[in-house]
Amino acid sequence: MSQPLLTADFAREFPELAVRWQAETPPAPRLLVLNEPLANELGLDAQWLRGPEGIGLLTGTTIPDGASPVAQAYAGHQFGNYVPVLGDGRALLLGEVTDTQGRHRDLSLKGSGRTSFARGGDGLAVVGPMLREYLISEAMHALGIPTTRSLSVVATGREVQREAVLPGAVLARVAASHLRVGSFQLVAQQARATGDLGLLRRLADHAIARHHPDAAQAENPYIALFAAVAEAQASLVAQWMLVGFVHGVMNTDNTTISGETIDYGPCAFMEAYDPATVFSSIDHAGRYAYGNQPLVMQWNLARFAETLLPLFDDDEDKALSVAVEILEGFMPRYHGFWSAGMLAKFGLSKSMEAAGLIDQASALLSENAVDFTSFFCALSAAGRGDVGGVLAGNIFDDWLTRWRALGPDVDAMDRVNPLYIPRNHLVEQALTAAMRGDLVPVGKLLDVVSEPFRKRDGLQEYAAPAPPEFRGYRTFCGT
Ligand code: AMP
Ligand code: MG
Repeated sequence: MSQPLLTADFAREFPELAVRWQAETPPAPRLLVLNEPLANELGLDAQWLRGPEGIGLLTGTTIPDGASPVAQAYAGHQFGNYVPVLGDGRALLLGEVTDTQGRHRDLSLKGSGRTSFARGGDGLAVVGPMLREYLISEAMHALGIPTTRSLSVVATGREVQREAVLPGAVLARVAASHLRVGSFQLVAQQARATGDLGLLRRLADHAIARHHPDAAQAENPYIALFAAVAEAQASLVAQWMLVGFVHGVMNTDNTTISGETIDYGPCAFMEAYDPATVFSSIDHAGRYAYGNQPLVMQWNLARFAETLLPLFDDDEDKALSVAVEILEGFMPRYHGFWSAGMLAKFGLSKSMEAAGLIDQASALLSENAVDFTSFFCALSAAGRGDVGGVLAGNIFDDWLTRWRALGPDVDAMDRVNPLYIPRNHLVEQALTAAMRGDLVPVGKLLDVVSEPFRKRDGLQEYAAPAPPEFRGYRTFCGT
């Protein structure tokens, strides 16, 4: 098998936003995990990827003909503060691959060494957080939620200084693209400084062609682009909320134009239902708490709208009113996706009674700190006459009577309510074992969360919440 075909479309079309760069050569690369189904989907030969040349590709040292690895430039609001230049400090876009369905996908690396955007960082990544991204992004994909994918994690054999000396790793990531709100913020900032809208228009045209091609037909394609991104993100955040996913670092540089979830740093799944749930050790104010995610996304989209205003209309007031109208539509759209999803989770069809019951259930869940994922599994069992698990006891008795009266469709519930999510304590156990060199628990957990809806014997521990001593789980940014 020869080298795969990679193109350098972004590098060629946007030299202003791409710095040619080379990965550092890892001293002793060792493949820890390879996503064979994804490799096949990309038309890459898994056997070749496992060999020395393939591992070279997965660490950035084998550069296929036609590829031109680059660090991408972008700006962004981090925790609400604008940073004019961020960029890939430890990541590289290797190039684009055309997958077996003809779609363009980015192939990129994380942890491949310092770039000119590294600022104080060392450009590296470690085994634990890269395996964590692999596990959680693949779990999200299996849940049917738009996300970047993980192709591989390669241990580099390099020692990396963090809170301790830890083993280094490189993650290979596949994305619809790496365009973010922050990419537009950087370009808009330059457009404001020079008065030249050329690059901004080109980037917007590129985003339309790649992600939202219908927008090209609109009277003003840029307004349609903004509306399409807002729609994709309203749907995405609703899907996060429906499975209890807390992204943890919803900065504008981590908000994609494609509508995929990106940047698995301090993310985690909520267990006991509580809108104030925060896992990230640096999110002191709870800006990115579970219940704030829709509002934060709207805020991020407002920053995106600001970048496109000059393309909406020459008249600033008109441009602004278009942006405001679409932004005001965000919450109703989000709510539409969320309530349709909630109805499905409860097995109900739309009615006033159903909406009331869902509100009451939310209140009961939070008052009693009920495990969000287990609740829906116990609920479908209760619908079949088997009241147990988190529904044992009597706090839900009245509520259950009213729920049953609406004739819930329990089979439909089982198709949307996952049994298996990456439970925080199991993720931690698996990563701890991996750091010791035992990859079996990671492989097992990956296997379980890759089929989240299918009940299998012997997997009860994967469906159960963390033991009480595990409460107060904290995550770190994976740097
Ligand atoms: P993130 O929080 O992962 O979205 O990263 C924010 C910014 O910090 C991006 O510009 C990253 O490229 C950069 N960054 C994060 N970790 C490192 C590191 N270890 N070395 C260099 N740059 C980093
Ligand atoms: Mg980021």
